[in-house]
Amino acid sequence: MATILDGKAVSQKVKEEVREEVTALKAKGYSVGLAVIIVGDNPASRTYVNNKKKACEMAGIVSEEYALPESTTMEELLALIDELNHKESIHGILCQLPLPKHLDEKEVIAAISVSKDVDAFSAQNVGHIMIGDYAFLPCTPAGIMEILKAYDIHPEGKNCVVVGRSNIVGKPMAMLLLQQNGTVTVCHSKTVGLENYTRNADILVAAVGIPKFIKADMIKKGAVVIDVGMDRDENGKLCGDVDFEAAKEVAGYITPVPGGVGPMTIATLLKNTVTAAKQVYGLI
Ligand code: NAP
Repeated sequence: MATILDGKAVSQKVKEEVREEVTALKAKGYSVGLAVIIVGDNPASRTYVNNKKKACEMAGIVSEEYALPESTTMEELLALIDELNHKESIHGILCQLPLPKHLDEKEVIAAISVSKDVDAFSAQNVGHIMIGDYAFLPCTPAGIMEILKAYDIHPEGKNCVVVGRSNIVGKPMAMLLLQQNGTVTVCHSKTVGLENYTRNADILVAAVGIPKFIKADMIKKGAVVIDVGMDRDENGKLCGDVDFEAAKEVAGYITPVPGGVGPMTIATLLKNTVTAAKQVYGLI
């Protein structure tokens, strides 16, 4: 049976480190602030925002929530972002996605100041990641790298397969594994013979968004399996992109859902916010 990669435990450690750093900054008279914008009343977004706010409070980061109605216009949202870009007490700005259909996510991301883009979604920050010279890493892939590190798992020389090529997970994940000298294959919905790739993976990352999509017979024996998915099964219960119960009998290491990648995403967000503040204060 696989070793369970306990993202919750790793995230607690990261959050504790962030808390200590924020306390040390406060002692020197420096505050750290994150603005979280949520538009509309998507229940999943509300849960994510509440979790982020709670994590900020525990770390000593000041969090300001801007809850806007579904009817918010582009002009109103951009005006708020502009105000926050100039607000000295705010070091990170996060606009919870997805936005209501009438709002242009690309334009919204582009409006956030690069130095406050703690999600690392902007074209500039993505470019920095491509060339390996970055301040912020996108929260979910960076959190996954932190889990690998905590369990002494090194991508170097390994066959790494990422299933999914979204801008927020799959693509940056592939880039981070490549930077750590993994040999990386990115699969997607047009990949022919997906299992031929996944069965060859020493490290398999599933970021697909389809419940229990990766079956045990698609996994190489002893592989490291990272499940990014946050899906609902046929009974409405939270599950991942990997068929966990069967997969854990084949894999060497596996992340559970919940308690795997999810908590690390928030921990990285806190880390990025502290980095943003330290940049402003000239401490890095
Ligand atoms: P996304 O933007 O919908 O991307 C899904 C990717 O999966 C796409 O690249 C798509 O390929 C690929 N795909 C779809 N069907 C496939 C198939 N049959 N075979 C192979 N690839 C297929 O999703 P995302 O934002 O990356 O999120 C993925 C999952 O992670 C979701 O469950 C999401 O909720 C979860 N998530 C979790 C966290 C966390 O903190 N734990 C953070 C972010 C996301 P194409 O590009 O060809 O369409």
